Amino acid sequence: MTPARRRPLVAGNWKMHTTPQSGVELARAIVRAGPPDGVDLVLCPPAIAVTDVARAVVGTTVRVGAQNMHWLDAGAFTGEISASMLAGVAEVVIVGHSERRGDFGETDEMVNRKLRAALAAGLTPIVCVGETESVRDAGGARALITAQVQAALEGVDSEAAGPLVMAYEPVWAIGTGRTASPEQAAEAIGWAREALGHALDAAAAERTRVLYGGSVSPANARELLAQDGVDGALVGGASLKADDFIAIARSAVP
Ligand code: PEP
Repeated sequence: MTPARRRPLVAGNWKMHTTPQSGVELARAIVRAGPPDGVDLVLCPPAIAVTDVARAVVGTTVRVGAQNMHWLDAGAFTGEISASMLAGVAEVVIVGHSERRGDFGETDEMVNRKLRAALAAGLTPIVCVGETESVRDAGGARALITAQVQAALEGVDSEAAGPLVMAYEPVWAIGTGRTASPEQAAEAIGWAREALGHALDAAAAERTRVLYGGSVSPANARELLAQDGVDGALVGGASLKADDFIAIARSAVP
């Protein structure tokens, strides 16, 4: 079980779904469905809906995040948004999601720059790491996760990393309906936490929440979230249904 000092966090990654209007409706439905006490709940709509969704949850316990950001503050970067633009609106930002790494060529170095910019702007970054199926089959999952954590945290010290959240998301489990077994999730999160200890220090490894992500559903959430060191979930598909998302959040109640 997650030690009491690490409060569970369940974040919904809406990916490229919802308009500002339907995003507000979904956020309201999630609030109506009853976010449980004792769990931090974060909604990450598409960038265009972040402001409206953030307004829709004012006065509730629900927090809002973005799915991506640029590492620079401003400039000629068509289509990008920066941490300082987000900072007044959102509290959280997902960094290094495997769809960004795989589909948009995001490198470990970019992830590191984004992470540092997010922390500097006072945002809570959720940094994603995880192996492809071929890497796992070749026995390289541990080395890859370790390398991704180390690279993401290059030049970051324990104090600066304060609010950092990590997510272990095996690429083969994202959007596939195939979930890591609870044992696989716990083992890989253990590797990530060990790497956090090396990259930062023991205190940071102990306090940093590490989530599991990859086809989490109301049916499998309880078992996954009951594992040692699994501090919550990053949820894609199931976060688009208010009742499913809240059912997952309830599974995270300590
Ligand atoms: C994700 O997008 O981070 C994710 C885990 O997606 P899904 O839950 O749909 O697998």
